[in-house]
Formats: sequence, structure tokens, C-alpha cells
Amino acid sequence: MTVTPDAVAWAELKPAEFIARRDAFPVVYLPMGLCEPHGHVAPFGLDTIKAEYLATQAACRFGGIVAPTMAYHIHETGYHAPWLRDVMGGVNPLLAALPPHLVLETLLYQFRAFRNAGFQGIVVISGHNANQADLRMVADAFAAHYPIAHFVRSDPELVAGRYEGDHAGRYELSQLLHIRPHLVAMDRASWAMTDPLGRFAQNPDVAEASALEGQGIIEASITAIGDAVHTFSLDRAPPSFLPMAAMEPIWADIAAKRSDWVTLRGDDSKW
Ligand SMILES: [Zn+2]
Repeated sequence: MTVTPDAVAWAELKPAEFIARRDAFPVVYLPMGLCEPHGHVAPFGLDTIKAEYLATQAACRFGGIVAPTMAYHIHETGYHAPWLRDVMGGVNPLLAALPPHLVLETLLYQFRAFRNAGFQGIVVISGHNANQADLRMVADAFAAHYPIAHFVRSDPELVAGRYEGDHAGRYELSQLLHIRPHLVAMDRASWAMTDPLGRFAQNPDVAEASALEGQGIIEASITAIGDAVHTFSLDRAPPSFLPMAAMEPIWADIAAKRSDWVTLRGDDSKW
């Protein structure tokens, strides 16, 4: 069942409706994605599209507001670098990525903005899988100073044990066939064998994707988000306003531990 989006996006709400939605259920959802290669069959923004869909459906069904999408994500550094070499074979990936320090520091300030806007619970859904440990590191650091309920997951984590996540394969294309079928060009699956771009990060099992499986994945994902937000403690007193400067010592602590950042591991990245 797809619930028709009401006005649930921060960007589309006027103040009266924003305040009413926030006060009814003070949870904000941040979709995170990026543009990266997803084979010949799918658009670059698949990760963004998934995350926005899950966040919007969650807000429609459970309440709350969808924050402006973070449509740039960590790539090229750490373990991403050898992965890119493996799946691209030297072809230009036409990638729109940022290094970890920019995404992680931005996330910290996004948490500040959400708290200052009166939210008491934060859901971060990343359609890009692999960087979530560092996203959680930032969320936990913020909450250690300014307690706030939070749930930070990549989409395959929402269905772990039920479905196997992948990159531009059966799992991801099933999702897209369910939520935006007109964006899928499955008749191009074989281009991976013949096109000058090579496989372009397409997974060999992509043709096994189905809208029905996608519906199962998406519905299980939304249910998992609902289970999380319904455990949030949302009865705190209105918090004091945090100036931007309040984030500086928190970020300094995180930056000082960059040798622990998962997103820098696995390669001799200069970052
Ligand atoms: Zn993806």
C-alpha cells in the first residue's frame, strides 16, 4: 500500500501546518543519498530516491516531517576507493560525492537544526549503504551532549535477516521497480557485457528483480522505521536554543578521532 503523500516535507509546509505536524508527532526524517553509478538499468540517484520514499511514507503513516534531503554522501575514500576500481574498471563513474569530514560535520549541524526546530526524535535513512557507522558516531556524539531520540540506519539494515542488500542488483532494482518503475530500463541489463562503460557497477543478478519483491522490501523497511519511532521518548521540555558555536567542541572531539572513522578505512586514501 502506497500512502499518497500529504504535505509532509519541511520544504513544502507553511508555518501553521509545520507547527501542527511537529507538535502532533515531533519526529523529523532525514533522507540521505547521492548520485553514483547503478548500472545501465537504473538512474544515478537510486539511493536518494529510496531514502526519500521511505522517509515520506514513514511521515505519512506515523507522523512527523521530512527534512530537506542530503543528496551528497561519502564516497571515493577508504573502502570506497577499491570498490570503485573493482566495479568501474577505470571508467569515469560520473559520481557526485563528498569526503567524510564534510558529510559528518554537516550531519552534526543538521542535528542542531532539527533540535532547534523543536523536534524530539530524529530518523536518518541512508539509501547509500556502508557509511552508517560514522553517521551513528555523529548522532551519538550530538545526543551525548544534547539528549535526543535518534535512529540512524541504511536501508538494508532495516530488513537485515529478511532480505540481502546489494548494489544495483536484485535487491535495489526490486525496490525501484516498486516505487518508481518508469525509471527502470531492465532491457538494458545486457549492456553490461557490451557497452563501452562496462558493467557500470551493475550487479549480475539485476534481471532477477521484481516489483513484488520490492514491495516486500519497502513495506518491511517502513514497518521497521515505525517500530523505531514508536519507541522514541517524545515528552521532553522545550530545549534551549543551541547556537552554531555549540557544535564546535563536539566536532573537534569527532575530528580528533578520525583514525576511528570507518569511512577512512581500507585504502591509502589521502583523506
Ligand atoms: Zn544504491
